[in-house]
Amino acid sequence: LSERLSGALEKLTAKGALTEADVATALREVRVALLEADVSLPVARRFIKQVQDKATGQAVLKSVTPGQMVVKIVHDEMVAMLAGEGDGEAGARLRIDSPPATILMVGLQGSGKTTTAAKLARRLKERDHKRVLMASLDTRRPAAMEQLATLGQQTGIDTLPIVRGQDAVAIARRARQQAMLAGYDVVMLDTAGRLSIDAELMAEVAAVRDAASPNETLLVVDGLTGQDAVHTAENFDGQIGISGVVLTRMDGDGRGGAALSMRAVTGKPIKFVGIGEKMDALEEFHAERVAGRILGMGDIVSLVEKAQEQIEQAEAERMMKRFQKGRFDMNDLRSQLEQMQKMGGMDGIMSMLPGMGKIARQMGDAGVDDKMIRRQMAIIQSMTREERKKPDILKASRKERIARGSGLEVQDVNRLLKMHRQMADMMKKMGRMGKGGLRGLMGQ
Ligand code: GDP
Ligand code: MG
Repeated sequence: LSERLSGALEKLTAKGALTEADVATALREVRVALLEADVSLPVARRFIKQVQDKATGQAVLKSVTPGQMVVKIVHDEMVAMLAGEGDGEAGARLRIDSPPATILMVGLQGSGKTTTAAKLARRLKERDHKRVLMASLDTRRPAAMEQLATLGQQTGIDTLPIVRGQDAVAIARRARQQAMLAGYDVVMLDTAGRLSIDAELMAEVAAVRDAASPNETLLVVDGLTGQDAVHTAENFDGQIGISGVVLTRMDGDGRGGAALSMRAVTGKPIKFVGIGEKMDALEEFHAERVAGRILGMGDIVSLVEKAQEQIEQAEAERMMKRFQKGRFDMNDLRSQLEQMQKMGGMDGIMSMLPGMGKIARQMGDAGVDDKMIRRQMAIIQSMTREERKKPDILKASRKERIARGSGLEVQDVNRLLKMHRQMADMMKKMGRMGKGGLRGLMGQ
């Protein structure tokens, strides 16, 4: 698929901004990739539409094709969608602070509930030093309870003693009671599943939910079941209410389209992924990894990232040349500030300009943070073209106008001018010293 895709993408070689046609051509291939990765059709459609609106008109970086550019945009959009707002690490965090916290595992039969319950219990024990009690509520298959007990022995996790003849709700109550008496931090309730969703299954899970009032209800879904996963997630979330998803069998050939589908349909975070049958084969969900897997176009993404870096590098070199000529006007200052903003602060940009560490520290000490950068940009924005080129012409009336225009005070304008003067002086000195002197001054 990847090869066919890049073949089609290479045909698009126009430069400049992405046209509707560029985007449409590339997205046709992306759509195929999504469907092949088992993303459900409505989700794929919605996603494509979203990217289409976003991508059209965006600039194409030098040295990449429009098609590659679209793929990068698609990738970033997918990561954002998979990760959700403020997720990431936090997505894997479980709300288990008030002991005994109850985690309810739900899902279809064979999805990996029992295995995941034990994996998760092990993780909570080893990483978070929690005392965990596991209980099987699977009264339908006699072997299910033994399966959990065996996994418990393997991992050193206690399991609730088996009492035949109790129903799921009774076992859930007994587990909670036992956890309270014996001081466990977490109770994991492993429910029975069915081959498909039916009213009886849902009624049983709902009854357990009501009896146990879980802190987390994790839906365990087989990552290889693309289309069905959406249906399953929709049903469980609608009827039981889930707090998160665990995707299993991500060690298999599946491309993980289920992740995107479920995320889109339920809006619930994917917290963990199962990557094997062994007890340590559970990891936190990484949106980047899954997006790469769904698209299968990691090489294109890194290519575009490299192109972006090159452009930033070229810009840094251009600036350096200007500095050496002793030129540093408001436009230069603005482009410095922009870079800083983009790179998330002082350290990033300064690391690209050889030897800028000292200035970075000085500016940092002077309190040049993100908020301040935004204000400074606003001030420069309010200057005329001439004022930006020749800041010396800025006298009182002009300063007042600029302050009004940027919604700030004249003293803010003065502060920016002072900073500019200091930087310009330094640039001039560096310029006179030449390249060698520059390195010397900066201690490189
Ligand atoms: P349950 O019916 O939902 O409780 O499913 P089980 O936990 O019994 O798992 C069914 C099968 O799937 C078992 O053979 C597990 O070892 C296997 N399994 C579970 N999670 C994973 C996984 O992440 N990767 C692989 N390869 N197998 C898994
Ligand atoms: Mg089971």
